[in-house]
Amino acid sequence: MNKILEMQVKSANEALGNLHLKDGYCCAKCNNKGVVYKAKADELVAYICDCQRTRKSLRLLAQSGLIDIIERKSFDNFIIKENWQKSLKELCLDFLKQSTDRTFFIGGQCGCGKTHLCTAMCAHYLTLGKSVRYFVWPREIKTLKSFSNDEKYDRYINEFISADVLYIDDFLKQKQGCEPSGADINIAFEILNARLCDIRKITLISSELTFSKLLLLDQGTISRIAEGAGKFLLNISQDEGKNFRLHI
Ligand SMILES: [Zn+2]
Repeated sequence: MNKILEMQVKSANEALGNLHLKDGYCCAKCNNKGVVYKAKADELVAYICDCQRTRKSLRLLAQSGLIDIIERKSFDNFIIKENWQKSLKELCLDFLKQSTDRTFFIGGQCGCGKTHLCTAMCAHYLTLGKSVRYFVWPREIKTLKSFSNDEKYDRYINEFISADVLYIDDFLKQKQGCEPSGADINIAFEILNARLCDIRKITLISSELTFSKLLLLDQGTISRIAEGAGKFLLNISQDEGKNFRLHI
């Protein structure tokens, strides 16, 4: 590389950008410009910085409301009063450390911290620079069903199918006394099947229903979850003493 070009690359990379002012994310690689400069065939060329993926995730998560939750719910402030809560947190941390099982499922109706822990896991993946999307079941299903135009539907669902990490909250939640419709099951299958076919994709699922109850709704779709979850298929059940127990 000639000396002048070398200096141009250096000063272009040292210049400060202001993308962090919009999303609060600071990137030392590009100094918040969103591009990194390199010399290519005697020319100064700008390349998109990896932080742009994180910035897009942050933008979409802010729209979905997960950013506010991420700020409040971390592993550090997860309250542990009983042993099962300790085991639950440890299993979440174990999931983050391994790369064999790519699906994490936690079911059961209680305020036992399902969303808290799944949110803390999403925060971890964001710090690794992965694209993370948040699918709040009742809200996103309504949006997807409202798209009669195929192109809009495909574009919208692909955001969730293609993300590195997808967190589905309140999976298959229905109004009281209602069962999921055929359309609900089809959308669930479309998303899960596409993600489970790609071993790089990580899917976190929380549901008020236990896994065995979900299986009764549609075995074909739901059993796909078990295939990708291994030991990370967790159910919180309430025992007679009103304590919650963790079943793997
Ligand atoms: Zn950057």
